[in-house]
Formats: sequence, structure tokens, C-alpha cells
Amino acid sequence: MSGSTIIPWVVGNWKMNPMHADAQQLIEQFKQLLIEQHISPEQCQLGIAPVAIALTSTKQQLENAASPVHIVAQDVSRIAGTGAYTGEVSAELLKDSQIHWVLIGHSERRELLGDDLKILKEKIKNALNAGLKIIYCVGESLEQREAGQAAQVVLQQICDIAEVVQAEQWQNIMIAYEPIWAIGTGKTASAADAQAMHEKIREALCQITPLGSNITILYGGSVKPENAVELAACPDINGALVGGASLNAESFHKIAQAFAQIKE
Ligand code: PEP
Repeated sequence: MSGSTIIPWVVGNWKMNPMHADAQQLIEQFKQLLIEQHISPEQCQLGIAPVAIALTSTKQQLENAASPVHIVAQDVSRIAGTGAYTGEVSAELLKDSQIHWVLIGHSERRELLGDDLKILKEKIKNALNAGLKIIYCVGESLEQREAGQAAQVVLQQICDIAEVVQAEQWQNIMIAYEPIWAIGTGKTASAADAQAMHEKIREALCQITPLGSNITILYGGSVKPENAVELAACPDINGALVGGASLNAESFHKIAQAFAQIKE
């Protein structure tokens, strides 16, 4: 079941990069490219996920960009509201700063920063209740893929959150399929393998919610200009979550163009 009428999204995940001055320069370069080669929001939606301290400055700097660019938080607290929780940024505080999107479930947070299923569910519940939209990341490890468990693992990660997402809240969720072995390694899943997994994810979503055929499913894992065209041509790949290549304005713009051209 193809979700090919979905407007693609290309989102840059800057992770713990770059330094402030470099980020400002990167944004200016990207803005210039958007002037030279415009990407219309009907063809492709753009997003950037900077570090938490740069969320509002990045948003301000992009306000006059030739194409709208959504600002995405890389994380949100498991604790809701406000209070004595040193170092935390709640969903409500993000919303109050006009940040409407958040990444949840990225494999780096699952593997390195203690985001287990209990924490992920709390984050998802808080984000949705505060009116945020979520990019929920799923993906299997190399060992799981080699053991033939990739689909089972990924579909379980989606079922895991179904109990905290209310029926109408599925419209506020995107999925990012990011095989862990392809993140930051230069190895990309072949377009055929990525499409096969996206198709399975689409089928699972359609079983979970009547909104399933309209849910955006991004691919992530060493997406670069060289592989973006092939990935963009796959019917169930509705965009990309881009790490390393989003730190280069030209590469990120080319990836967005590849997805935008699918809509021409
Ligand atoms: C990511 O971390 O979301 C990602 C896809 O990284 P990269 O593009 O560098 O593999």
C-alpha cells in the first residue's frame, strides 16, 4: 500500500553539532541556496533539528528563508510541565517557544543515553499532550538484521508506542526508519531493502490506525545527494532524516531537491 500522495519531508538532524558561528554560516548558505533554487512546500517540506540551545536562534534566522523550514527539537523531557527538574526541557516549554516538532526514539538516545521503552512512552505521551508533532525513529541493529529479525524488531518498535498514542494523535506522528548499521557509517540500505521495510511499516500502520496510509515515513541512514534520487523514487519512502550530510548546505539542499522533484 503506497503513501505516494504524501508531501515529502527532508529533515536535517544536526546532533551535537556545529559550533554557533558555523551553524549561523550553514544556515546563511542554505538560505542562499533556497533563493537560487527554490523548494516549494507543496513539493517538499524542510526541517532542521539543531542543538537545544540553538532552537530559537535557528528559528529566528530561518524566519525570512525563501522556503519555510520547520524547527525540530532533538529531544524532550520525560517530565511534563514546569518544575524543579534541573536540565530538563519539557514539551510545554518547547511549545511555548513555538517549536512544534520533536525527534523521539533516535537510536543514539536509545543506545547511548538511556531512552528505554518506559521513557520513550513518557516522552511521546507528553509531547502529544502538549500538542507537539513527533518524528518517531525506529530501526534494527546489524545483528538483528543478520539474524533475520529486522522487520520483527521495527514493527515491534511501532506497536510499542501504539498504546500511548490516541486515535486522533496519529495525525501528529511521522516515522523515521533508520537502520542502526546505516547511521553515520556511510552504508545505506539499498533502495529496494529500504522500500521493502517501508512497505511493511505502512502495512502495520494501516492495521493500527485508519490514518495509516497518510503517515509520512522517512528513511535515515547515510542519505547523501548520491543516493537520494533512488531513495526518493521509492513509493513508500516519503522523505529523509539526514544526519552528516545536513551539516553541508549544498548536500542538504540537493537531497531536498531530489525529494521535491518527485512531486514535479
Ligand atoms: C541520523 O542520525 O538520523 C542519521 C540518519 O545520520 P546519518 O545521515 O549521518 O547516517
